[in-house]
Amino acid sequence: MLTRAPKGTKDILPSESYSWQYVEEKIRQIARLYGYREIRTPIFEHTDLFVRSVGDTTDIVQKEMFTFEDKGKRSITLKPEGTAGVVRAYIEHSLYAEPQPIKVYYITPCFRHERPQAGRQRQFNQFGVEVFGGKEASLDAEIISLAVKLFDSLAIKGLKVNLNSIGCPDCRGPYHEKIKEYLGDNINSLCKSCSDRYEKNPLRILDCKEEGCKALIAGIPLILDNLCDECKDHFDQVKAFLDAKGIDYQINPLIVRGLDYYTKTVFEIISDSLGAQSTVCGGGRYDGLVEECGGPKTPGIGFAIGLERLMMILEAQKAIDIIEEPMDIYIATIGDMARLKASDLISVLRKKGISADMDHVGRSIKAQFKYAGKQGYKFVCTIGENELTTGDLRIKNMKEGKEDSIRIESLLDYLIKQLGGSSND
Ligand code: ATP
Ligand code: MG
Repeated sequence: MLTRAPKGTKDILPSESYSWQYVEEKIRQIARLYGYREIRTPIFEHTDLFVRSVGDTTDIVQKEMFTFEDKGKRSITLKPEGTAGVVRAYIEHSLYAEPQPIKVYYITPCFRHERPQAGRQRQFNQFGVEVFGGKEASLDAEIISLAVKLFDSLAIKGLKVNLNSIGCPDCRGPYHEKIKEYLGDNINSLCKSCSDRYEKNPLRILDCKEEGCKALIAGIPLILDNLCDECKDHFDQVKAFLDAKGIDYQINPLIVRGLDYYTKTVFEIISDSLGAQSTVCGGGRYDGLVEECGGPKTPGIGFAIGLERLMMILEAQKAIDIIEEPMDIYIATIGDMARLKASDLISVLRKKGISADMDHVGRSIKAQFKYAGKQGYKFVCTIGENELTTGDLRIKNMKEGKEDSIRIESLLDYLIKQLGGSSND
């Protein structure tokens, strides 16, 4: 137990973390390009926030939350998704009083008590964006284009944008009646969750993964055919903006998304490299959510990308090489005096922005070379009694295999020249 991470969690080891940093940097660059600023909200919130905002007919709230009582007897939940906390912060800090829209993004761990499998963990990471205070279809197209831009920048192929509209409460009322009519006496054959959905939010029955329910909904009336004029017009505009941006999409009338307070546009981006858990991005409009959580009536829209799944696609497609820049120099040492000198030198180099290290475990000179070779330093030099007496140093360029003789005191200048601009000066 002591040396096993909890079920459904994964360490990101030093050998993998660079790829994560690379992807995160791309995310930050693209978010900036589109005018989004970062928001960081707590890892845990009051349970009620998720029940209210994610919705009590969803799998997340019904089965997947990590909920506990804190010492003050409050019910607390580790965030299962990013939107709720951002909506809470938007209301709590009166961001609605600032010029709209408010465009934010986050990169955050999320927690869901699910059966772990490929692409499904209990702690995973999401990159998400949320926009508040903009109702125009141009925004719906913008966030889809932002997600597509991120995937493109990572040379990811084989993605499909699946698009749908689930209308507003005005069109959903009559539509729900149609679903009920269609299901008729079959309601007794629905799974337990769907019986509940039948009462509270029948649209969500379309999202059920149970085979029995899937069979029942084949041929069910589609919300797309039942939109009110305003929602239909909005959806047409979203498509027009996507067409103008040259973004490929397909209409998928079965996409309804897990959350209860989505309105109008919903979408998923699905990858052909992921197997069973093929959705890498899910999002949509939630024009009723801010109000539902106690804020003023405010349109909103957002998406979340599962970063583990994104990394799995990168790994499967190997379209780009993400290679960590090696450290600049390793100073091998023989003897205590040499170690003192090396310690001095690496401080000077590091001050100038050159990454440098030396032996800290008392290895033999041969073992030090082996270690430096394995770590992939760009340069290696040795300081021993001889170098200390003469002040002459031989330095090896590990990639080219070539050696130069220099003076110890010119090591910094030599490296600045060789590394071509990696100095901070
Ligand atoms: P799924 O259909 O896979 O259950 P979901 O509808 O529950 O997904 P969302 O709530 O839309 O997922 O979350 C957005 C994204 O977060 C998903 O598209 C997926 O990439 C990722 N994600 C969701 N749950 C997990 C998980 N347990 N482990 C890893 N990634 C996840
Ligand atoms: Mg899920």
